[in-house]
Amino acid sequence: MMQLFLPLNFLGFVYREIKASLANIEQMFALLDEKPTVIDTPDAPTLNTHQGRVEFDKLWFSYSPDRPILKGVSFAIEPGQKVAVVGASGAGKSTLVKLLFRFYDPQKGQIRIDGQDIQAVTQSSLRQHIGIVPQDTVLFNDTILENIRYGNPMATDTEVNQAIKLAHLSDFINNLPKGANTMVGERGLKLSGGEKQRVAIARTLLKNALILAFDEATSSLDSHSEQAILQALEEIAQGHSSLVIAHRLSTIVDADNIVVLNAGEVVEQGNHTALLALNGHYAKLWQSQQKQATASD
Ligand code: ADP
Ligand code: MG
Repeated sequence: MMQLFLPLNFLGFVYREIKASLANIEQMFALLDEKPTVIDTPDAPTLNTHQGRVEFDKLWFSYSPDRPILKGVSFAIEPGQKVAVVGASGAGKSTLVKLLFRFYDPQKGQIRIDGQDIQAVTQSSLRQHIGIVPQDTVLFNDTILENIRYGNPMATDTEVNQAIKLAHLSDFINNLPKGANTMVGERGLKLSGGEKQRVAIARTLLKNALILAFDEATSSLDSHSEQAILQALEEIAQGHSSLVIAHRLSTIVDADNIVVLNAGEVVEQGNHTALLALNGHYAKLWQSQQKQATASD
């Protein structure tokens, strides 16, 4: 069974309502020797979703008081839209995803889903509606199958197989001695970064949440697998609001809106064409990646 968790990866776990009592979450933090930083208010209602509109409203956040990481970040994801966040490493992109899932609360500002402040609703209801493929996936010491099912323990075998196929895991699984019933090494060490990412993608697909967040979800894949998986994610994202943290800009040129984050501030936003025309941060980033791509051809 599951033995050790890292905070970023208890997403599926929380969804597993049968087990996700508050007591369990506390146990898990105890295991990690960390205190939960967010708590439900006593009479917190559950999140009511209608369309999946997400608003980041003047968010200020710091991990330690002297060093603000997000400085008044505002942008919205309209229902069904794909919004990308780009920016240099350390800009605060992953922090945004962590705040959306409420691993932390902002010091100022709000995140609202369909008009409700996420701090005012229960964490379990919030997390049911958000599927995240994190930047670093930690797998449980269990079978591949259980690691995937974890996204939705109620899923049928057909649904599980579909998720495996969409995440391009079929060949990998078929080549394992016990197929999907093969144990993942302790904390997933036996899988490559790309394989772990694909397990995380399958898990998230199975969860079928209204709101999806991909944090550099394909960064460990070679560009061939990346293209294939991006296509699958594109299909899955239909009808879902999605937040895509992009590593390679070529993967988000089609986003409805691109938010450029620089040192915790939104410096530009718009679609690819509009941002190129601005000839600012985004255009520079784009040109430097184009040059790299040409150099490596
Ligand atoms: P990005 O995803 O854009 O690379 P992050 O959101 O991961 O950026 O990090 C933004 C800044 O916050 C970085 O300087 C990072 O070192 C810092 N940071 C991230 N996580 C923590 C943490 N748990 N405690 C303290 N500082 C952190
Ligand atoms: Mg990051």
